[in-house]
Amino acid sequence: MREYLQFYIDGKWVDPVEPKTANVINPATEEVSGRISVGSVADVNKAVAAARKAFTSWSETTREQRLEVLLAIQAEYERRKQDMGEAITEEMGAPLSLGLGFHTLLGSGHLQTAIEVLREFPFEEQRGTTLIRREPIGVCGLITPWNWPMNQTCVKIFPALATGNTMILKPPQLAPYSAQILAEVLHAAGVPAGVFNMIQGSGAVLGTALSTHEDVDMISFTGSEPVGVQITKDAALTVKRVGLELGGKSPYIVLDDASLATNVANATSAMMGNSGQTCSAGSRLLVPKARMDEAIAAARDAANAVTVGDPKGNVAMGPVVSKGQYNSIQDYIQKGLDEGAQLIAGGLGRPDGLEKGYYVKPTVFVTSNDTVIAREEIFGPVLAMIGYDDLDDAVAIANDSTFGLGGYVVGDSLDTANAVAKRMRTGAIWVNGGFDFHAPFGGYKRSGNGREWGEFGFDEYLEIKSIIGFKPA
Ligand code: NAP
Ligand code: MG
Repeated sequence: MREYLQFYIDGKWVDPVEPKTANVINPATEEVSGRISVGSVADVNKAVAAARKAFTSWSETTREQRLEVLLAIQAEYERRKQDMGEAITEEMGAPLSLGLGFHTLLGSGHLQTAIEVLREFPFEEQRGTTLIRREPIGVCGLITPWNWPMNQTCVKIFPALATGNTMILKPPQLAPYSAQILAEVLHAAGVPAGVFNMIQGSGAVLGTALSTHEDVDMISFTGSEPVGVQITKDAALTVKRVGLELGGKSPYIVLDDASLATNVANATSAMMGNSGQTCSAGSRLLVPKARMDEAIAAARDAANAVTVGDPKGNVAMGPVVSKGQYNSIQDYIQKGLDEGAQLIAGGLGRPDGLEKGYYVKPTVFVTSNDTVIAREEIFGPVLAMIGYDDLDDAVAIANDSTFGLGGYVVGDSLDTANAVAKRMRTGAIWVNGGFDFHAPFGGYKRSGNGREWGEFGFDEYLEIKSIIGFKPA
């Protein structure tokens, strides 16, 4: 049993102002795995005051001083990698290989990237007699979800630190353990008091207190669309900057010249990774209509081959994060059946032999783009496969979505694949796979308005100042 009953405020572990706790459930067992304290507005006020106080000196540190702090964090993060991976598996149910692997690696990757970007970042630029300075925006409220917990916290914290901001992190109640370990890492690394603060508890209470706070300058939020809208309204009262990274229904286009069976199989197993709880998951698989039979066979085989079970064992997929998430996914599967989509694999209920834990069957439907299961983000291991007539039709279907986060194109002709990628209205497109920590990531349309990752992630936390008439020394 884990007990994380203190918050991290002003460089110290402190008790909440009003003692109150909540249980954390292990999604693999449905049993209580630990307890956290849940904070109140009074804790937020303390943390904001500490961050405000620290801002004066932290915002005036040199690039070299901040690099030194980031390098100290890096050493400490490396030391705690095993703890981090285990915590992620316990809190949100990712297989241990994924918790210790990609989940943890995304955190260290964003840290390494922030270090690389900080070394070169142009904070000042002289244009004629005007000096243009990029300066930290101030006290930042960082509100994060549970699905890739280290990715989402680290992609905010390290650029915010590197650019001289101070911050308050509000991690998700469903997955609070990895954030606690990260706060321990920052403390052990000697981040100056008040620069980084963390309070656990409810988004409705703490998130709202941050969004409406007079002394918070910016909110960076990753999560669902309704909460993003609410935060934007709350933050408008004090004219805060709000960075939003929201949901998606990302198209995965298999071009006609691609090896259909291999690519459909890859797309299907990728969809089931992290139990389908990835904002940029390729949840709409677009294949040539004329070859639908071949695609169905490949998707069915790939979905049925996904091993589901205890995330501590050797499985490809663990449970989904919570009972609420399980029920919501079951409702979507039922909706798919009700609206006449063709079920290819999976379906309602738990996989055979799993009576306890929030396990979902890897599920594939063939459907059209106007159905609920093709339009709404399910955030579970449910793939909607859709046939297209020709390239124009594929692009039209891909773009016919209220979201615009990710996109995937696979094909043998790079010219064709690149041309299709350029026509897609989403913030990031992967052509035949690949990975880049320096590529900006964020959404078009209702998928958000911010750009995180790499150099573009720094801009989120910077004000731009003109000093007109500035004479270089
Ligand atoms: P969520 O319900 O929106 O919660 C995200 C965070 O916001 C949690 O910490 C939550 O606190 C907090 N929150 C809730 N109500 C709030 C309010 N009124 N004011 C301020 N904060 C509030 O999202 P989720 O269910 O955890 O995560 C899934 C969603 O995130 C999906 O839609 C997914 O696509 C999206 N996502 C997007 C990206 C991206 O980069 N674009 C990445 C990952 C996930 P609690 O702890 O109380 O819930
Ligand atoms: Mg939620």
